[in-house]
Amino acid sequence: MKLTATPLMKIGHLGVNLFVKRDDLYPISGGGNKGRKAEYILAKCIADDCNAVVTCGSAQSNHVRATAIRCKELGIACTIVIHAPKTNNIQGNLKLLYMLGVKVVYCDMADVAKVMDGEMEEYAKQGLKPFYIWGGGHCLEGTKAFYDAAFEAHTQAKQHFDFVFHASGTGATQAGLHVGFKKINLATQVIGISVARQNPRGTEAINHSALELVNENGLDVQLSKNIIFDDEFISGGYEKTNPEQLSVIKAVAEQTGIILDPTYSGKAWYGMQQYIKSGRVKSGSNVLFWHTGGLLNLMATKQI
Ligand SMILES: *Cc1c(COP(=O)(O)O)cnc(C)c1O
Repeated sequence: MKLTATPLMKIGHLGVNLFVKRDDLYPISGGGNKGRKAEYILAKCIADDCNAVVTCGSAQSNHVRATAIRCKELGIACTIVIHAPKTNNIQGNLKLLYMLGVKVVYCDMADVAKVMDGEMEEYAKQGLKPFYIWGGGHCLEGTKAFYDAAFEAHTQAKQHFDFVFHASGTGATQAGLHVGFKKINLATQVIGISVARQNPRGTEAINHSALELVNENGLDVQLSKNIIFDDEFISGGYEKTNPEQLSVIKAVAEQTGIILDPTYSGKAWYGMQQYIKSGRVKSGSNVLFWHTGGLLNLMATKQI
């Protein structure tokens, strides 16, 4: 059941030794970091002898799409609670939920916990054993997936990175990469570019997940206080963008063939470019851009 490693590309761009970890190609349709998380989370579901899943997200959530696909691959029943009004705009991730034929329930944001509990009870009544997954796949298994992924990238590169950049949301991806790269080489700096959250909340969430990972797995890692969660490039919030970021997304596609999106990876790339331009990342550094995906988010927008 172990899915395969994603490619690591070396492209040399922007005056640095730029590597790109292609988790956008993670082997679940639509790819992305939520595919990597889903593999680990659903393995826990099976280890717990569960045979149904209830989770939640927005209409364009990559987490719910990756979870629904993994459930179908494994033959596990799946209910997705969408905390937004029902829409006739069936695009991107939402289109795949309908193609997969998982149960889709809509509710108000304020009712999501109650509605998810109700769906859990519903499965229990049917004689199934349901498994609950937090929105975004924000949990220990999701963090562990990225801890292991840091080693995957290191093995592929056969050298140390000075910096790792990626799009950061709930903090599970960054916590896993942060602890993983600290274990590999204390000098590597993982820089999460926020897609929505501001500090101190963003940094606190990463700290919390990193501590949980270290404690639960008994890891011998020096957990430094220098988690870098940069909220400078959120451009107004989740799913918001601006002309400057859109032009970078377009330029990267034209110059490298790498497809970024305005909700996630485009913000991260834009942020990385600002670090390089401002000299915070010196030319000649070994820089890893961790491409977390977002293709279906791009396809669901009217931009570009
Ligand atoms: C969810 C998501 C992120 C952020 O991951 P977190 O673990 O929540 O920080 C980044 N990129 C894409 C494409 C995502 O779907």
